Amino acid sequence: MNKFLELAIAGVQQLVPYVPGKPVEELQRELGIAEVIKLASNENPLGTGAKVAAAIQATLPELTRYPDGSGFALKAALSAKLKVAPEQITLGNGSSEILELVMRTFVTPELEVVFSQHAFALYPILTQAVGAKAKVVPAKSYGHDLTAMRKQIGPQTRLVFIANPNNPTGTLLDKDELEKFIASLPAHVLCVLDEAYYEFVDPAVRTESLAWPIRYPNLIIARTFSKAYGLAGLRIGYGISSPDIADLLNRVRQPFNCSMLALAAAEAALGDSDYLNQTVALNSAGMAQLTEAFKELDLPWIPSSGNFVSVDVKQAALPIYEALLRKGVIVRPVANYEMPKHLRVSIGTERENAIFINALREVLSGV
Ligand SMILES: *Cc1c(COP(=O)(O)O)cnc(C)c1O
Repeated sequence: MNKFLELAIAGVQQLVPYVPGKPVEELQRELGIAEVIKLASNENPLGTGAKVAAAIQATLPELTRYPDGSGFALKAALSAKLKVAPEQITLGNGSSEILELVMRTFVTPELEVVFSQHAFALYPILTQAVGAKAKVVPAKSYGHDLTAMRKQIGPQTRLVFIANPNNPTGTLLDKDELEKFIASLPAHVLCVLDEAYYEFVDPAVRTESLAWPIRYPNLIIARTFSKAYGLAGLRIGYGISSPDIADLLNRVRQPFNCSMLALAAAEAALGDSDYLNQTVALNSAGMAQLTEAFKELDLPWIPSSGNFVSVDVKQAALPIYEALLRKGVIVRPVANYEMPKHLRVSIGTERENAIFINALREVLSGV
C-alpha cells in the first residue's frame, strides 16, 4: 500500500498507469537471445534518417544552452509546410503533451470528457488524472460512433477526444461526417482531433483538417513526429488550433518543454520527404504482407489506416502474446482496450513481418 495515496488528489488515487510495449532489451535479458523483433509500439521500422542524424550531430556542441523556448525555427518550418500561422502552433514533448495541456488548461473535476470505447489509452488516463468524469461511448464496428458520441455531449461536457485513425483499431472516420460532428459542437465544448497516424492515411480519403481550426475555433488538431517521421525516442509533437487556444496552451506548458535535439531533429525530419515517402511505401507493402498472411491463417483483422493492424486470434490473445514473446517477437495485447481476442501488430520491415508471421503460424499450430 502506497503511504501517500490518501494525500494524492482524488483522480490520481484511482489512476491505473499506462502499460507501454515491452522493451526489446528487457526481453533479450529474459530470454538470453540476441534477436528480438518489436512490433508493439507503432514505431518507424526504418531507423533514424540520415538528415535527422546530421541535425543532431550539428546540435551536440550546443547542449549546454537551453533550447529556444519559442521553438521559432520549427514553428516557421511547420507553418510553411502546413499552411497554418505560427500563432496557431503549440509544440509539445510528444503529442501526448498536447493532449495533456488541453486537459490541464480546460478540464476540472466537475466536468465531463467524451471519448469512444477502444480509443487511445491516454484519454482515460488524462481524464482520470484531473479527476474529471469520463463518458465512454460504445464503438460501432470498432470505430467511433459519432452520432452516439454527439448525444453524450451535455452542459457539463468540456472536451471530446477523437482519434482518426484510431489506435489500436486503425479505424478511419468519413471526413464529411467528421466535419459535420465538429461543426455541431456547442461553443463550450472543445474537440481534440488526434491525428498521430495522419501521414499513413490514403490521400484520397484523408481530411483536409488543418483548415478546420479557423472555421471551428474550438478544435485542436494533435500531430506527432513519433510515428511516420520516426522520432518516437526524442518526444516531439504539435497542436494546431485557433490562435486563442494556442495562446492558452502556451501559457500552461513548461517554458522549455521541447529539447534542443528534438527541435532540431523535427525540423530536419520535416524537410526529409524521401524518408517520409519511403516510410509510407514500406507501410503499405507491410500491411499487404500481414493481411495476406491473416487471410491465409483464416484470422479476421480490422482494416487499418495506420502503421499497425489489430488481428482477431479467435481465442484469448494473452497466451498467444506470451508464446510469441518466447519466440522473441513482441506485439501488443489489447485486452485493456476491451479487445481480449485481438493482438495489435505494428508494421515492420519485410523481414520483421515475415518473422512475426512465421512465429504466429507456429504458435497457432502449437509448435
Ligand atoms: C502514438 C500516439 C500518440 C502520440 O504519441 P507521442 O509519441 O506522444 O507523440 C497520440 N495519439 C495516438 C492515438 C497515438 O497512437
